[in-house]
Amino acid sequence: MEALVLETKDQLSLRDFPQIDREEETLGPRDVRIRLHTVGICGSDVHYYTHGRIGPFVVNEPMILGHEASGIVIETGPEVTTLKPGDRVCMEPGIPDPNSRATRLGMYNVDPAVRFWATPPVHGILRPTCVHPEAFTYLLPDNVSFAEAAMVEPLAVGIHAATKARIKPGDIALVMGAGPIGLVTAISALAAGCARVYVTDLAAPKLDIAAGLSPAITPVNAGSEDVTAVIARDTDGWGADVVFEATGSPRAAAGVFAPLAPGGCVVMIGGQPDPISYDAGAAMVREARVENIFRYAHVFPRCVKMLASGAIDVKPLITRTFDFKDSVRAFEIAASAPPGDVKMQIELPQ
Ligand SMILES: [Zn+2]
Repeated sequence: MEALVLETKDQLSLRDFPQIDREEETLGPRDVRIRLHTVGICGSDVHYYTHGRIGPFVVNEPMILGHEASGIVIETGPEVTTLKPGDRVCMEPGIPDPNSRATRLGMYNVDPAVRFWATPPVHGILRPTCVHPEAFTYLLPDNVSFAEAAMVEPLAVGIHAATKARIKPGDIALVMGAGPIGLVTAISALAAGCARVYVTDLAAPKLDIAAGLSPAITPVNAGSEDVTAVIARDTDGWGADVVFEATGSPRAAAGVFAPLAPGGCVVMIGGQPDPISYDAGAAMVREARVENIFRYAHVFPRCVKMLASGAIDVKPLITRTFDFKDSVRAFEIAASAPPGDVKMQIELPQ
């Protein structure tokens, strides 16, 4: 089948990829076959394209990109009970070993054996069809579009971060970074009950998008304003109850405790390829709780329900849609990181 293939760093092609047909011919008893409909372009896909690696994961052989997906079930294995052909679905891209210790403890996202789409050597789903376990495939209500459903994967990161933060109604949160993950974290924090969410970035267009998502979001330009001072001014000097680090910048991460309230929580979301330092003394005097997240676990059904009920709206985050035949160009544009774009998606022919 035709697929979007990362041949090697900086080299993409849309071409026939017979190996994937062989690998995915067989449908296990508890698998479903899915015709892909919409696939979001993730920062990690772009990073593999421009760098050929993310940390220890190196693209040594041609790899199909894409892991944020929705589609339609076209075939089910004999033991599948919850899905049938014609069902509209979204898919969780990481499949753990069901018998691993991490999975048995409920932390399947940190199972060292997890197979995650478009993470070498596992192929992604920018291709017409895929085979996936029923257990990681989620039925969509009629009022959730394929485009929204393909946003569940990044949204899951924000919902997982908000869950780890243990947000209480009325909390004040700060989200550092207004990229796609920063923005889904901001709307997740609001949905979890925050009274106000401050969002920082250096790029004014990204802050404009953030401000447009909710009147309860306050944009702060970290280039021209002192974030800690802004929050201190608005909170009688107390600080933010929760700080989400979603920039992945060592410099931003070094300052996570300055705006944090006593007893507050920092959630580290942004990936850090190298060891970084942070102000442990500032954490100590606040008795700060620090949480780290790796992708997400157990949140896809919650995300789908929140999209269906209107508790969360991801539509403003979808800023561009490309046809599958234009997917190489879509990645070239995504790699140039246009400041006015949040999420670009690719639609497959149906
Ligand atoms: Zn992603």
